[in-house]
Amino acid sequence: MNIAVFCGASSPKNEEYTAAARELGRSLAEGDHTLLYGGSNLGLMGEVSGEALRCGGHVVGVIPTLFSEDIIRSQAVTELVRVASMAERKEYLIAHSDAFVALPGGIGTLDEVSEVMVANQLQHLNKPMVLLNLDGFYDPFLNQLHVMHDAGFVRKGAETALHTVASVDEVIKLLAAAQQKSINLIN
Ligand code: AMP
Repeated sequence: MNIAVFCGASSPKNEEYTAAARELGRSLAEGDHTLLYGGSNLGLMGEVSGEALRCGGHVVGVIPTLFSEDIIRSQAVTELVRVASMAERKEYLIAHSDAFVALPGGIGTLDEVSEVMVANQLQHLNKPMVLLNLDGFYDPFLNQLHVMHDAGFVRKGAETALHTVASVDEVIKLLAAAQQKSINLIN
């Protein structure tokens, strides 16, 4: 499967997040999944992609040309895709991925997660968005979703295709189940 990973471009204070990012990179490579991501070697992004590469995985970095050519060329990936803008990068990642996984991150990560959820809710898309809720990192976000749902602004969880898990193991199991489901649908 093609799996897009959204995560922080900064290094977290919590070592557990770094360890999980590496474990995810390793598990995706070992599971023969292609990793698509924002193309940077900074922070958690660099941890996921670096570990996937070390484990022989296929890593596609999607980089907006607004970053300097030096930065673009210095990224360690197996395939580099240049796009014109951050918006085009999101479009590319969404169109070319079968599922999305979010590790902890900042506003950029939240933007990417929200974009996928909105597309699923509007039924422009029907692809799983897996939130890796390490150490309750996403609890306030999930609470806000409940508040918005109770107020009548957000549809039921299933319609945003949001799945919340607490470990990389569960991410991999969920991806395997999603893959099985799409095979069954094809047959
Ligand atoms: P943030 O969560 O704010 O650290 O932003 C990380 C997300 O936004 C990643 O998944 C990237 O796709 C994108 N992003 C933000 N900053 C950068 C950067 N310096 N290089 C590449 N991608 C970035």
